[in-house]
Amino acid sequence: MSSCSAAQTPHLLNLSPEELAAWLQAGGQPAYRAGQLLQWVFHHRAESFQQMSNLPGELRRRLEQNYRLWTTRPLAHRRAPDGTEKLLLQLADGHSVECVLLRQGPQRRTVCISTQVGCAMGCVFCASGLDGVVRNLTRGEILEQVLRLQQLLEAEERLSHVVVMGMGEPLANLDELLPALDLLTSPQGLGLSHRRVTISTVGLPRGIRRLAELDRPYHLAVSLHAPSDSLRTQLVPVNRSIGLEAVLEAVEEYFRATGRRVTFEYVLLGGVNDSPQAARQLGRLLRPLRPLVNLIPYNPVAGLPYRTPDEQRVRRFVQELQRQGVQVQVRRRKGAGIEAACGQLRRRHVQQQTAESPAKP
Ligand code: SAH
Repeated sequence: MSSCSAAQTPHLLNLSPEELAAWLQAGGQPAYRAGQLLQWVFHHRAESFQQMSNLPGELRRRLEQNYRLWTTRPLAHRRAPDGTEKLLLQLADGHSVECVLLRQGPQRRTVCISTQVGCAMGCVFCASGLDGVVRNLTRGEILEQVLRLQQLLEAEERLSHVVVMGMGEPLANLDELLPALDLLTSPQGLGLSHRRVTISTVGLPRGIRRLAELDRPYHLAVSLHAPSDSLRTQLVPVNRSIGLEAVLEAVEEYFRATGRRVTFEYVLLGGVNDSPQAARQLGRLLRPLRPLVNLIPYNPVAGLPYRTPDEQRVRRFVQELQRQGVQVQVRRRKGAGIEAACGQLRRRHVQQQTAESPAKP
C-alpha cells in the first residue's frame, strides 16, 4: 500500500487538459508544455515524469512532487494464446478492476475498459454485479487502464479501438467517462475517431439521450438479452423500472440524432432465452430499427446455474433472426482460459482474499 501522503497526491490524469495548462502556466511554463506532457503520456507510453526528457528538470521535479502519473498496481496479468491480455489493477483504495487488450488481425488492437468497481445492474449471468457496486471510477482511473494496456503493445502496434464493456454500467458514470473519452478522441490524447469507441450499456434511457445530445457519434451497444419484458426483467433486474419500450425509444432517438446504427447485445443462455421462438420475437421487435445483433454465447461464471448453448442451437437462433431481415453476428470468444469475461478475474481475486483473511469485514 502506498503511504498516506502518496495516496493523497492528485492523479495527473484526473486533470482536464485546460486544468493542466493552467497549472503549468501558473508555474511560469509556456503553453506548449501541456501538449509535450500529454504526448509523453499518450504517444511515447512514458512510465515516469523523469523519462520526459524535453521537459526542464525543475518541471519534472515539480510534477513528481505534485502529481502521480500512476495510481494503480497490476495484481495479475494473463496472456492467452490468441494474444488477448488481461490486467487486474489494484486502485489506490485497495479495490480492483479489470481491463483487457484484444488483438484481431494485424491492425486491430482493442482495449476493453471498466467504468465502476462492481456494478449495480444485477444481470443474473454476469460476474461483475454479483456483489453490487462499490464506486465509480475517476476519469484518471478510466484513462489509466487504457495506458496500462497500451504499454503491453509491441512498439509497432497501435491502439485502434476502445470498447467500454468491462465492469460497471458506463451510463451510470458518464460524468467521469465522457471527459476520459474526450481525451482519447482528441489529438492531444490518442486521436481516436469517435466511431472507434463503443459504449455498451444495459440500456438506461436518460443516459442514452444524454449521449444523443452530445454530438459525438460514439458507437452504442445496448445489452438486451430478451425479447419480452417478463424475460428481460428476470435476466436484467433493472428492466423492471425501465421496460423494453423505453429502451427502444431512446435507441431510436440516438439513431436519429447521430445517424449511427445501434448494436444490440444478446447473451445466449441455454434453455433460457435461446429458443427459435425467442429469436423470431426478437427479430420482429428489432426489425424496424435496422440494427446489428451481436449474439454472445454465455461465458460460464463459477457458481452460476446457466449453460452455454451448443453450436446447432446458436445457428438456429441466427437463422431465425436472419429470416426476419436482421443483421446478426456471433461474437467469437476471445481469451478463453484467462477468465476474460468481465468481472471473473476480480471475483476470483476478491474470493481468495476473503478466504485468506476471514477476519476482514
Ligand atoms: N453494463 C454494460 C457493460 C457490461 S459487460 C452492459 O450491460 O452492456 C458487456 C457485455 O457482456 C454485456 O452485454 C453483458 O451482458 C455481457 N456479459 C456479462 N456477463 C457475461 C457472461 N457471463 N457471458 C457472456 N456475456 C456476458
